[in-house]
Amino acid sequence: MKKIVALDIGGTSIKYGIVSEVGEILFQSEKPTNALRGGAFLMKTVEEIVETLLAQENNFVGIGVSTAGQIAPETGEVVFANENLPGWTGMKIRENLENMFHLPTFVENDVNAAALGELWVGAGKGKKDFLCITVGTGVGGAIVMNGQIYHGATGSAGEFGHLLLKKGGYLCNCGQRGCFEQYASTGALIRHVQSLYVERGENVTEPINGKWIFEQAAIGNAVCQEGIEYFIDHLAVGLATLVHIFNPSLIVIGGGVSGQGHPLLQQINKKVESYIMPSYREPLMIDFAKCGNGAGMLGAAYGLLNQIG
Ligand SMILES: [Zn+2]
Repeated sequence: MKKIVALDIGGTSIKYGIVSEVGEILFQSEKPTNALRGGAFLMKTVEEIVETLLAQENNFVGIGVSTAGQIAPETGEVVFANENLPGWTGMKIRENLENMFHLPTFVENDVNAAALGELWVGAGKGKKDFLCITVGTGVGGAIVMNGQIYHGATGSAGEFGHLLLKKGGYLCNCGQRGCFEQYASTGALIRHVQSLYVERGENVTEPINGKWIFEQAAIGNAVCQEGIEYFIDHLAVGLATLVHIFNPSLIVIGGGVSGQGHPLLQQINKKVESYIMPSYREPLMIDFAKCGNGAGMLGAAYGLLNQIG
């Protein structure tokens, strides 16, 4: 059976492992990114991981890399990475790995790779066209068209998190104001719940995070319930915009909130329906991602298999 070395490089950790040609993760581990040590150090870490994996087994047909940052699809080079991965911009990941290991290498942005993972063995299996949105600290997106990622002019299509939702709204880390992710991420949910507590003059001793808010809401905490309503409402407004542009039959929601299960999914569905024209409702399904945190590795492996044909 063919095997692929797969890596998923994030701001805090690098997940890595071995993926089979039918989309099983045969081995998985992770190590810290140590992003602050810079791009060259990170590239060296990646090379060491690949070297170790290649020494373990045979039958490798290539290397698949999912990474944070905007990636040029043809060259596998980092077009832009933000301050979470200093010195990563400009890194020729594909060229470096192909020169060193003489194996075909595929490199893709992490959200796009996660979408490919869902397309291969997850919520998008059997679909040719769908949208993926990851809702975590920020909001990411990917557009799958005809079984492939739609990249746009510079490889950056699908940045749903920076849809303009509110003119003059909260300042976003992209430099603009009022971006979608400032209202519909877990980061935004936490900020909103904190502000509700401040308004009420109440003190919370526990650290407020997304998991805590959902747990509290489930046991009747009115402040957390109000926060979640705000979050769902803004998420639905952004999704409604996407629905009117793409008329999709499927939107896959990944990231931290996808662990929340059916009740949240139903509320999102209902709210989105209320914001879209009837003709868009019937074909539309909104579902949670199914590949968990292995999605990036799976998608990187799938991309590699497609690349080598
Ligand atoms: Zn923004």
